[in-house]
Amino acid sequence: MSENTEAGQAIKLDPWFGHYADRASGLSASEVRALFAVASRPEVVSLAGGMPFVRALPEDLINGALSRVMSEQGPTALQYGSGQGVPALREQILEIMALEGISASVDDIVVTTGSQQALDLVTKLFINPGDVVLAEAPSYVGAIGVFRSYQAHIEHVDMDNDGLIPDALRAAITRMGAEGRTIKFLYTIPNFHNPAGVTLSAERRPEILQICQDAGILVLEDNPYGLLSFDEDVPPAIRSLDEDGVIYLGSFSKTLAPGFRVGWALAPHAIKEKLVLAAESAILCPSSFSQLVISEYLASADWMGQIISFRDVYRERRDTMLTSLAEHLPELSWTVPNGGFYVWVTLPDALDSKAMLPRAVTELVAYTPGTAFYADGGGRQNLRLSFCYPTPENIRIGIRRLATVINGELDL
Ligand code: PMP
Repeated sequence: MSENTEAGQAIKLDPWFGHYADRASGLSASEVRALFAVASRPEVVSLAGGMPFVRALPEDLINGALSRVMSEQGPTALQYGSGQGVPALREQILEIMALEGISASVDDIVVTTGSQQALDLVTKLFINPGDVVLAEAPSYVGAIGVFRSYQAHIEHVDMDNDGLIPDALRAAITRMGAEGRTIKFLYTIPNFHNPAGVTLSAERRPEILQICQDAGILVLEDNPYGLLSFDEDVPPAIRSLDEDGVIYLGSFSKTLAPGFRVGWALAPHAIKEKLVLAAESAILCPSSFSQLVISEYLASADWMGQIISFRDVYRERRDTMLTSLAEHLPELSWTVPNGGFYVWVTLPDALDSKAMLPRAVTELVAYTPGTAFYADGGGRQNLRLSFCYPTPENIRIGIRRLATVINGELDL
């Protein structure tokens, strides 16, 4: 083989190139990774990442929980624990899920290393190469990465301002059936969608569920943002309508802090045992230390009050972003999120968000191009703006810079 072929080059860089399993071909770095390294320079206003504003957490609350755990349960916190997770924390997770209308048994909760790991485990359990995962168009970039790594076929389903469109879901199921493909699950982010910012309406939830039930498709409901609502509470979770056909994923990453790396899956009873076995085979058990600190924090702090103050921080930032967009980029359209972290922007036809990103970084502002959120090359006319991390002042500066970039591109 010539050294000049692509494979030849890859062998030069990695002598093990020919040895990887087929599934490793699905593991590819995002094309915008290198630019993001540049975008993390302090002079760049980054509207790209989805990092929660953890500085809003009172440090003494976390410190207090941490030191109590070490003085009262130190050896347990430092030891291996149950593969399914600490029972006391699972009880508290039940209370949290009750806020979204879910009633469940503590025995059906599996604590994971962030909900990202739950996504991985569920996909590992259900996907053979070529099986279909239905996912919203656009969908969470980290989930697309997981589905790809198990060689799933990702079929996007359109959304509008009320979330996933039931007729589009029916059409996708018919389309996949005509191609003779097996659909394993629908992956959906019903609340304050990442990246689209929209919420699935209360009316559509039972309809979406019914469509999946009729077609024998499992629903994977991913809900890390549900408690971060700015205006009114979210409709009851899809899981509150069906306990046998929905796997629900939750996380402490956005409502507390992602550094703990604690999330969970609530699975139908029949699936839970396999999920625990898969978790044990991957990591033996989730971090005892993190789980006990979170459990102590939930038991001793006003955690709902803390979530309410997070909402206040993010609401102000969302308002700043929407006002700045209206002021500087009135020719664009965007979604209006009622919670969460993200605004999804649609550019004029002539623009390409991916091609425009280097110019934006030169102008010291970064965003995530829409293409990151599609498995099929879509999204060039969109970009995701995050308002969770930058201060309101920086959001204003960032949108002004973005307007310079966009107006410059339109003048070409
Ligand atoms: N799902 C969605 C929709 C997300 O936005 C994220 C984090 N950005 C995750 C899952 C993973 O979160 P974690 O692993 O931190 O719980």
